Amino acid sequence: MQIRVCRLYGKRDIRIETDEVGDPQPGEVLVQMGAGGICGSDLHYYQDGGFGPIRVREPIILGHEVAGTVVAVGPAVTSLHAGDRVAVNPSRPCGHCRYCRDGKFQHCLEMRFLGSAMRFPHEQGGFRGHMLLAAPQCLPIADEVPIGEAACSEPLAVCVHAANRAGDIRGRKVLVTGAGPIGALCVAVAAHRGASEIVVTDLQDATLAIAEKMGATRTINVAKDANAMDEYFKDKGYFDLAFECSAAPSAIHTAVSALSPLGRLVQVGVAGEVLVPLNLIVSKEIELLGTHRFHAEFAQAVDLINSRSIDVSPMITATYALEDALAAFEAAGDRTRSVKVQLAF
Ligand code: ZN
Repeated sequence: MQIRVCRLYGKRDIRIETDEVGDPQPGEVLVQMGAGGICGSDLHYYQDGGFGPIRVREPIILGHEVAGTVVAVGPAVTSLHAGDRVAVNPSRPCGHCRYCRDGKFQHCLEMRFLGSAMRFPHEQGGFRGHMLLAAPQCLPIADEVPIGEAACSEPLAVCVHAANRAGDIRGRKVLVTGAGPIGALCVAVAAHRGASEIVVTDLQDATLAIAEKMGATRTINVAKDANAMDEYFKDKGYFDLAFECSAAPSAIHTAVSALSPLGRLVQVGVAGEVLVPLNLIVSKEIELLGTHRFHAEFAQAVDLINSRSIDVSPMITATYALEDALAAFEAAGDRTRSVKVQLAF
């Protein structure tokens, strides 16, 4: 069958092309894609041809936040049927390396992740009309869930994992720095887990307005109101927990300054080497925690969306047809108007 794909050839070189997709083999299903979110990593591939040491070295179909409808199932697939609407788990750990054997699947040494240039040949992604996938990667979504919301399962899984790293959130005072898609979803997870306060900082009013809809109790535009955080710096800090989602040195400094002694900083945003205020981290005994992808949290994220426990709809700021992928990537890079931009197929 002929399908359309959105393929990146290099920096700012996206082409809509036709390609072939075969019939599902044993254990596989053919999914007709419905929606796909543009992630920060997709944007880095598009704007810079990669990030850090990870470079686009051959044409790659981007996209790892996708959902669609099963249109055919291969032999030996009993869990799914044609017509099932599914969220696609982009993560495929090998299952037998030392980390997989230890249950640390997100650290798999042979991880295959949709739309990733980390391995060579690159792992091709989901921005395309149809795709063959292993059946266990496809999790059914409820009838009433719009396909675009189902495509938010992946970034939500990232934030559920980040929240699991943070420990108990009930009754905690939480700071979220950076109100992009991951910040917005960290707000939603913190609200769902019973945080007593959720203060969000960003440099844009538009993203902060969405953070408020996702559950923020207060939003602060630190570009406009540089002194608004001062009250949280008094007496060694205020918050129990911070999700740092920007990777900007100034935001990391803000988060460390605003955390109480023994507070936890979950670093969700990622960048190369940045300055951190080591003196404050040490003297306030801050716990600095990294967080990387997810494993079991993907199914939990699908459950949260299926049960309408978390409403991801406010953060989907625009949806473009596949043919307009170029405009979609440009919009996704414009934080004055975009949180999550999706493609429709
Ligand atoms: Zn493995």
